[in-house]
Amino acid sequence: MFNARLVNDPFGDPALYLDLRYRREALLFDLGDIHSLPPRMLLKVNHIFVTHTHMDHFIGFDHLLRICLGREKHLALYGPPGFIGNVQGKLAAYTWNLVENYTNDFRLVVTELHPDRSETVNFPCREAFRPEMERQVASVGETILERDAYEVKTLFLDHKVPCLAFCLEEKRRVNVKKNALTEMGLPGGAWLNALKDAIHRDEPGNTLFRVWWKGEDRGIAEKMYPLGELREKLTKITPGQKIVYISDVINSPENVEGIVEFARGADVLFIEACFLEEDRERAAEKYHLTAMQAGRLARLAAVKRFTLFHYSPKYRGMEERFEEEAMRAFQGEKE
Ligand SMILES: [Zn+2]
Ligand SMILES: [Zn+2]
Repeated sequence: MFNARLVNDPFGDPALYLDLRYRREALLFDLGDIHSLPPRMLLKVNHIFVTHTHMDHFIGFDHLLRICLGREKHLALYGPPGFIGNVQGKLAAYTWNLVENYTNDFRLVVTELHPDRSETVNFPCREAFRPEMERQVASVGETILERDAYEVKTLFLDHKVPCLAFCLEEKRRVNVKKNALTEMGLPGGAWLNALKDAIHRDEPGNTLFRVWWKGEDRGIAEKMYPLGELREKLTKITPGQKIVYISDVINSPENVEGIVEFARGADVLFIEACFLEEDRERAAEKYHLTAMQAGRLARLAAVKRFTLFHYSPKYRGMEERFEEEAMRAFQGEKE
C-alpha cells in the first residue's frame, strides 16, 4: 500500500516521499531539496517529519510553503527540540500583509518533539502566520502519529544535536479479493477504503456496512451488509510493512543500540552513509556514518532490505563503492 522513494539521487539533499497509494495522502521524511517533486505530489503531503534542522534537511520548507499558499490545507510538521522556533524564523523572513483576505484556511500545525512530551503551535496563514499564544503540550511516547491504517514512531539519536529517526508501521494489511467482488456482483469504489478502515478499527462483525456506487441515471445505489460477512468473503488480511528512516547519526554505542532495536525486522531501512569506511575518522568527527557502519546496522537489525543515501559530494562517480562496502557488512563479511 505504501510506495517509499528517495526524492533525489544519493548525493542530493535528503527527503523520502511516502505515497499512500489509493488514498489522497502522502508523507515526507525530511524536507531537503524537493524541487523535483511535481506540485500535485507535494499537495498530497499532509504530514512532514524532519529529523533535524541542518540546512540540507530543511531547505525545502520554502518551496513547500510556496506551493501550499492560498490552499485549503492544514499541514502538520514534526521536528526535534527547537523546531517551532526554526519554523517561526523561516516565516519571519517574508512579508505577509496581503494574506488576511485569503478565502482558504491554510495553516501550519507545528509539533516539536521532546523525549517526554510534544508541544504544538498553529501558524494560520490568514493571521500573517502569527503563532497562537499558547503551546498545546501533550505527553507522548514512541508513537507520534496514529491513523487507521498506519502509525509513525520516533527515536531520539545523537548527531551532536538531537536527531530523530522515524518508522512508519503499517497496520495489518487488508487485501480485497477481486474475484470475490465479482462473485458478489459488487463494483469497486471508495467504499472499499471505508471497508478497510472499519476492519482496521476492529468494528464488530454485526455492524451494518453500507456499500454504495453510482447507479443508473447518476443516482447512488446502495446495499447494506454485515461487516463480518464482507470481511470473510472479500478480504485477506496480511501483516503490514515497516519502513525506517535514519539520517545523520554518529556510530556511537548508544545510537547503535537504539537503531538496532528501532529498525528490527524492517522491510526497508533508509539509512545515511555520508562517508566510506576509509574515512571513518572524518565520519566520526562529522557525526555521520560510513557505508560499512550502515550495512552493519542493517545486518544487526535484521532488516529485509536497505537503501543508502546522503553520500558526500566528494565521492561523486564512486557510488558503487558505497553499495559494495555496505553489502559486504550486511552479509557479515570481515569488517
Ligand atoms: Zn546533519
Ligand atoms: Zn545531513
